[in-house]
Order: sequence, then C-alpha cells, then structure tokens
Amino acid sequence: MKAHDGMYIGGGWRPAVGTDTIAVVNPADEQVIAHVPAGTAEDVDAAVRAAREAFPAWAATPPAERAALLGALRDELGRRTEEIAETVTAELGAPPALALAVHASLPVVVAGTYADLAGSYAFEEKLGTSTVLMEPVGVVGAITPWNYPLHQIVAKVAPALAAGCTVVLKPAEDTPLTAQLFAEAVHAAGIPAGVVNLVTGLGPVAGQALAEHDGVDLVSFTGSTAVGSRIGAVAGAAVKRVALELGGKSANVVLPGADLARAVNVGIANVMSNSGQTCSAWTRMLVHRDHYDEAVALAEAAVAKYVPGERVGPLVNAGQRERVRGYIEKGLAEGARLVAGGPDAPLETGYYVRPTVLADVTPDMTVAQEEIFGPVVCLMRYEDEEDAVAIANGTVYGLAGAVWAADDAEAVAFARRMDTGQVDINGGRFNPLAPFGGYKRSGVGRELGPHGLAEYLQTKSLQF
Ligand code: NAD
Repeated sequence: MKAHDGMYIGGGWRPAVGTDTIAVVNPADEQVIAHVPAGTAEDVDAAVRAAREAFPAWAATPPAERAALLGALRDELGRRTEEIAETVTAELGAPPALALAVHASLPVVVAGTYADLAGSYAFEEKLGTSTVLMEPVGVVGAITPWNYPLHQIVAKVAPALAAGCTVVLKPAEDTPLTAQLFAEAVHAAGIPAGVVNLVTGLGPVAGQALAEHDGVDLVSFTGSTAVGSRIGAVAGAAVKRVALELGGKSANVVLPGADLARAVNVGIANVMSNSGQTCSAWTRMLVHRDHYDEAVALAEAAVAKYVPGERVGPLVNAGQRERVRGYIEKGLAEGARLVAGGPDAPLETGYYVRPTVLADVTPDMTVAQEEIFGPVVCLMRYEDEEDAVAIANGTVYGLAGAVWAADDAEAVAFARRMDTGQVDINGGRFNPLAPFGGYKRSGVGRELGPHGLAEYLQTKSLQF
C-alpha cells in the first residue's frame, strides 16, 4: 500500500529524525503491506514547535473562517471515502461494507458537525455584569487507538480546530496509513501549515514524548484504561488539561415486556460489528430469568449469521486475538456455558476469533468484569429490577449501555439508574451531536457535538 516515509509537520512531509520503521500488517492475511517511520521524541518536539508557532494565528482566525476550512476538510474526506475504506480494510481488517458504511463515512458526518458548530458556537456569553470568553486551550496532543482509525482522529482534531487549537496527532501503530490519508486531506483542504501535525510511532516512545511535552497544553487520549491512567498521572503532575476515552463493559438490559427477539438480534449485531473491537459495545446482555432460556436460543441463532472472513473481520493483531481467546478460555474455566463459538481458530490464516456466546455468566466472573474487546457476548440472568441495576452498575466501567422495555418511558426510568455516559433506548439511533464519554473508569471528558468542542476551550471572565 501507498505510505509516506516521513512525518506531516508544519504543512509538509518531512523526513523522520531516526531510521526505525513500523511494519503495517493486514490482519486478514498476516502480510506486511507497508512501513511507516517510527517517530522519536525529536520528531514529536519538531511537531509541537510547529503547532505552537501556528497557534496564535489560528486562534485569532474568525470562527467563520475556521468553519469554512473544516467544511473543506469534510469535503476532502467525503471525496476520498473509497480510498479510506480500502485502507481501513487493509490495515484493520474491517470487511469492505463496514469500512465504507462506518469507518469512512462516519468521520465525514462528524467533521461536518464541527464545520457547522465552529460557525454557530457561542464563544462569548454574558453572565450578570461579566462577559465570559471561551478561548482555545492551546496545543493539543491527540493520541488515538486503532479500532475506528479515522473516526477517533476526527473526533479529536475537528473539535480542537473548531475551538481554535492546533494539534499534534500520534495515531495507533497498527493503523498509521489511515492517519496519513487524513493528513493528506488536511493539506488538500488548505488548513494552514502547523495547525495539524502527524507523528507516527510507538506508544511508549512517540506517544509518551507527546504526553510529557511541555509545549502541549491538553492531552486527548483514547485507548486502554491502563495507558490512560498513566497519561492522566503525567498530565496531572504538569497541571495540564486531559481528556480520556477509555474502556467499557456496557450492559444491554432487556426488561420484561420488551421485544425480546429484536433486543437479542440488535444486541448481538452491536457486539459483532467491528469484530467486537468497540469500546461502547454492549458486551453483557442482561435478561430476566423468565425469558432467559429463550434469549439464549435467540442469541445462538443470531450469532450463526456472523461468519468469520465474511461478515466478521479478524482482530487487529495476533496479540489481541490471543487476549480474546484467553478470555473465552477463562470464562469457560470459571463456569460459563459455551453456546456458540469458542477459543479455537476458525480460519488457518488471519487473526480471526469465532463469534462467541457465553451463557450463565455471573457478575463475579472475569468475563463479566474485564473488557474483552472481541466478538464475545456474555448472557447474564437477573431476578428483578434491583438485581438488574446492581449487575449493570457492578463493574469499574461506565461508558455506554442499552435498555429495552415495553415503552420508552419505562426504559428511560431504568436508564436514569445506570452509572454510564450513554444509553440507547429501545435500540437508539446514532446522533453525532450527543456527548460520548465515560462515567467511572471509562474516562474523563466528552467527545462529539458541542460538549466535545467545550473540552478544547478555557474560560476567561471580564468584569465590568
Ligand atoms: P492502547 O492504550 O495500547 O493504545 C492507544 C494509543 O495510545 C495508541 O496510539 C498507542 O500507541 C498509545 N500509547 C500506548 N502506550 C502509550 C504510552 N505509554 N504513552 C502514550 N501513548 C501510548 O490501546 P489499544 O490497544 O490501541 O486500544 C484498545 C483499548 O482502547 C481498549 O481497551 C478500548 O476499550 C479502548 N478504547 C476506548 C475508546 C473510547 O472511546 N472510550 C475507543 C477506542 C478504544
């Protein structure tokens, strides 16, 4: 595949300081498809300097002009959806239909919301006798994961730009090619030099250098809770702003009276999408004991439609595959019942895992507590509503969730009792303006919509 052999810094592709490279592997056939440079602290420093230099002019650019440039970025991404989809399929393994419908298309929508918000957001408000100015925080260090390579980038860079911040992006090492396409789109959109900079590299090297850099005012990180907690500590020590989007263990609560078949089918589809590599996936399905056996039968039938290599892609790398297979084995060892799938490999080549349904999962089991990040659904039985609330809230995470009931009012009443940042009511519907982010150890801060923009602002009040 096409790859740049440098970093996008200060409006152009520059050679990397070091000579190390990262091999990009197609997880569907395990073949190396490209190499990108492995950035060092020196590359990060050059990128941060470029972002600092560009900051005053970008912060002073009228919001309407920033909006127009974000609109041009949206259009560029829109023009390249096929190329982006092919790249996501090559480096993440996403099936082509998913790559086009979600990975390549969702970022166009999100970029569009920020083209609109940059122009309409109230960057100034009156409070009594004061005027409050909402000003950009400064230089943003954006560190992104591989699971939705372009969406994760756009969900940070677009609001940062709308707010008037400049950015240094360090994308995941598994999916740097999509990030390079994004930098090309930034360039083609005419976004001024230094406003967006890209350094590819390893997390503990380039990522850490970015999080620790004195010239970075805000670190926005999406990834594992372990790394997020370390980044939070580094940022805290330097009294730097931080936004963390971390893991999840979301509950899909099916209340008596709900359309059980729909709840189970949509619930299975939700987890199988992107091979289960979605932080907000509804990985625990909670069903009342009276409907539990029927739900297990429905889940078994539903998951049969997800064939590895067709509808379900591989996991991103061998390490993730082994991790997920290990969780399935642990679930079985701790007493879960295998309804479908299992830890054995479905195909000889590629990092595939069998779509798996585990039943009779109890809250004390590892698979009920830890994020698996693979195509694995845990079915759990509850006795009554109090029990369902306790199970739903009984993990360290609180990112998303779903409630199904006879009507929306009943589902909303239950959703109010859930310690989580986002709940889909009777199936829900994606809304790019709705804030996304976690309660508890799922994170700090919100992405998307006006709440996502506010993360990149600081307030100054003028007293008259
Ligand atoms: P990860 O934490 O290993 O990596 C995420 C990013 O952090 C990558 O760019 C990586 O290079 C970088 N990184 C790694 N070590 C670093 C360090 N010491 N300093 C600075 N940066 C470092 O996570 P992953 O394996 O890529 O992604 C999977 C995890 O991310 C899952 O736990 C998942 O739930 C979580 N996730 C959360 C969300 C969300 O929105 N809440 C979204 C996607 C993924």
